[in-house]
Amino acid sequence: SKQVFGFQEGNAQMKDLLGGKGAHLAEMTRSGLPVPPGFTLSTAACLSYFKTGNGLSDSLWGETLSALERLESDRGQRFGDPINPLLVSVRSGSVSSMPGMMDTILNLGLNDQTVQGLSQQTGHARFAYDCYRRLLQMFGNVVLGISGHHFEKIFNQMKQKEGVTQDQDVSLEGLQQLIPEFKRCIQAHAGRGFPEDVHEQLRLAIEAVFQSWNNSRAQIYRKINRIPDNQGTAVNIQSMVFGNMGMDCGTGVVFTRNPSTGASELFGEYLINAQGEDVVAGARTPQPVASLHNEMPEVYEELVRVAKRLEQHYKDMQDIEFTVEKGRLYILQTRNGKRNAQSAVTIAVNLVKEGIISKEDALQRIEVSHLDRLLHRGIDEMEVKEVLAIGLPASPGAAAGQIVFHADVAMEWSQEGKKVILARPETTPEDIQGVLVSEGIVTCRGGMTSHAAVVARGMGKPCVCGCEDIKIDEELKQMTVGSRIVREGDWVTIDGASGRVIPGEIPLREAEITEELSELLEWADSIRKLKVRANADNPHDAKVAKQFGAQGIGLCRTEHMFFSPTRLPVVQQMILAEDIEERALALDQLLPMQQADFEGMFGEMNGLPVTIRLLDPPLHEFLPKEKELQKKLEELKLAPEEKEEEKKAIHALIRKVHSLEETNPMLGQRGCRLGIVYPEIYEMQVEAIFRAASRCLDRGVEVKLEIMVPLVGHVNELITLRKMIDTVAKQILEEGNGKEVPYQVGTMIEVPRAALTAGQIAPYADFFSFGTNDLTQMTYGYSRDDAEGKFLTHYQDHKILPNNPFQVLDPDGVGLLIEWAVTSGKSVKPAIKTGICGEHGGDKDSIFFCHRTGLDYVSCSPFRLPLARIAAAQAAI
Ligand code: ADP
Ligand code: MG
Ligand code: MG
Repeated sequence: SKQVFGFQEGNAQMKDLLGGKGAHLAEMTRSGLPVPPGFTLSTAACLSYFKTGNGLSDSLWGETLSALERLESDRGQRFGDPINPLLVSVRSGSVSSMPGMMDTILNLGLNDQTVQGLSQQTGHARFAYDCYRRLLQMFGNVVLGISGHHFEKIFNQMKQKEGVTQDQDVSLEGLQQLIPEFKRCIQAHAGRGFPEDVHEQLRLAIEAVFQSWNNSRAQIYRKINRIPDNQGTAVNIQSMVFGNMGMDCGTGVVFTRNPSTGASELFGEYLINAQGEDVVAGARTPQPVASLHNEMPEVYEELVRVAKRLEQHYKDMQDIEFTVEKGRLYILQTRNGKRNAQSAVTIAVNLVKEGIISKEDALQRIEVSHLDRLLHRGIDEMEVKEVLAIGLPASPGAAAGQIVFHADVAMEWSQEGKKVILARPETTPEDIQGVLVSEGIVTCRGGMTSHAAVVARGMGKPCVCGCEDIKIDEELKQMTVGSRIVREGDWVTIDGASGRVIPGEIPLREAEITEELSELLEWADSIRKLKVRANADNPHDAKVAKQFGAQGIGLCRTEHMFFSPTRLPVVQQMILAEDIEERALALDQLLPMQQADFEGMFGEMNGLPVTIRLLDPPLHEFLPKEKELQKKLEELKLAPEEKEEEKKAIHALIRKVHSLEETNPMLGQRGCRLGIVYPEIYEMQVEAIFRAASRCLDRGVEVKLEIMVPLVGHVNELITLRKMIDTVAKQILEEGNGKEVPYQVGTMIEVPRAALTAGQIAPYADFFSFGTNDLTQMTYGYSRDDAEGKFLTHYQDHKILPNNPFQVLDPDGVGLLIEWAVTSGKSVKPAIKTGICGEHGGDKDSIFFCHRTGLDYVSCSPFRLPLARIAAAQAAI
């Protein structure tokens, strides 16, 4: 089948076959823009070139020659003609944009004879030899694989000899002398001469461009940008226009809008009397495109017109390459311009306002994963001189502070008003107070779903995890990276969006919800079907959540309230209690604290639903680690008699830690299991909830209360606890002023058995909330806290799993359980409310899944709400 297409034969829809560059050159040719004529060898031709491995096939070469003939008659020139030679460029062009990753050769068709023809035809000898020396350089480099610096060395010697610094100041005689020198260089390094035969030049150039698909920078670029390796590149052969023919010539690149701010203004650079790569090569400093207005007013006006037209045509910001030959403008390439997250939003909103695209189009264009960067502080990149270590980008945002290696030092220092970054080998729940007061967190071990990462994301705090190059010495209070030592108190800056740990204090840039972003979010709200709620554990987070558009709290983890420094001792007292009375005393102290939190949350959410989950983790999480207790004992060994009491207490603690010890705590005594065996804990929580609710009602706050029971696996667990909740509620409300507190009781669905028996559970539940963290953990049988460090990364690297299932919801297994639970729940109770509250609630693919499955809401950390709102709208479009 046909492998070569003239520019006049293709169009933008043929991108897969012609590559992006070829398809758009064709589209522009069709719409009458000034594009130098040419033709494209298809990506299919490239793939079969690789498949056969025998060089260019006869059929491809035959089609190429016929296309070349048409081009010759079009231009009235002949390729290789000694009098009036046609020159062409041979340009790579892949399906997905890979700017600058593959090769292009200019001025093909020159040799010792044709250079004279070009010189006479144009009357510019210097120009002709400039083209020739460029061809020798590029051909030597790209086709024959000779490192560019060999040519530059020779070129520099010539410049020195002539006493000039700029390429364009080298004289005609200088250039003429360079030609044989470059040829000798080619012979010496490539073991063959430069082909004088122009058809051989063409054949070799085509093969080189095909092969540049597999050069290492292209391969790396594809890997980073997830571009498939089996697309291949097209080859565009295009008649040359010359920006290097004098002062009325030039070449440049423009964006139709500012790619870093999104502002609607022509943005770009150009060079007078230059060709192709000169603009990016950096040898001469290009001029801002605005000054073309003065230098070549007519060309500028036309460029503005073309830019507008291309943007209208493609309905997106364009990145355009142009060349001016003797005052005439030529367009050599257009594509959708790359842009940062900030300008992507601004551009999308402006395009809607200018009537170019619809609101839906604008929303579809937002890459939600980039939004993360917008909503957090960033670092001033210009100030980054050095990077200490790179870990996983676990929680976006940037922070600077003095480094500390212990949670308690973090607390001390922060109380003194210092900014601290907490660095730990790994984090455990005990570090949470340290995390709370730190600007950011660094860990040496642990992945994107490690405890530190989850907690940090929940708080919107920057976190870099799994920085394996960092070795922390807790005793010496220092860390080493290679031979470098960073001591406690030294300043570091971390960037949780890129995973970088940077020495020193780097200035930060504030995050902001710009006017454009809030406009876009409003459009999203009017389109999406899924509601969005936030996971928030305290009044402050609830407030933030509301600002980011939460329509309720989907998960309030009551245990996080237990970790604060004033409460933890009371919680420990409760756990250590020898009997019910003693426990009751501790619970009595906890009750008002919890009640105050709940009042605060209800107050913030006034009228929006608040889902409160009863205590979930195993009790041992609230006690110190045995190792630390033993260490304290060691220290006390040398202490005088009066420390006896303290030692006793520690021994008691150790006994308790032992008695609570479980081999498999995540499958152990936690959630509703704990609540059933120790009913007084849940009773206290429920009492605090209803006291808070009725106080709020008295104050005129509207309360929409949802109580959630965690870890149910059998319907009897829910029946038991629901009865308890109803009883306590009745009791509290009777004590009060008799005002009704409406409430719902629901359950987490996070144990696979609960999902499977959802039809039995539904009669006793007003709502299901899918706890996809535990559900994933138990469905896969992967321990969330261990899997990443052990085999999960390996699995992902070797493509055994498509994704980390703790980040992207597994639609086939875990998803099937969710679908089943929703369907069977609704068949029993059609009005049952369903939502998701795991980490997945803030992930785009998972949000799409929730939309498809017909859930009512997703709940995620407050800082991911904007992302969730947009993703939910995208899912609905
Ligand atoms: P890349 O994909 O690296 O941008 P291109 O194929 O776009 O490579 O070529 C780079 C530059 O070479 C173009 O921007 C243009 O300035 C110049 N160029 C390519 N083809 C021609 C041509 N036919 N006439 C004049 N300049 C050309
Ligand atoms: Mg280009
Ligand atoms: Mg859970």
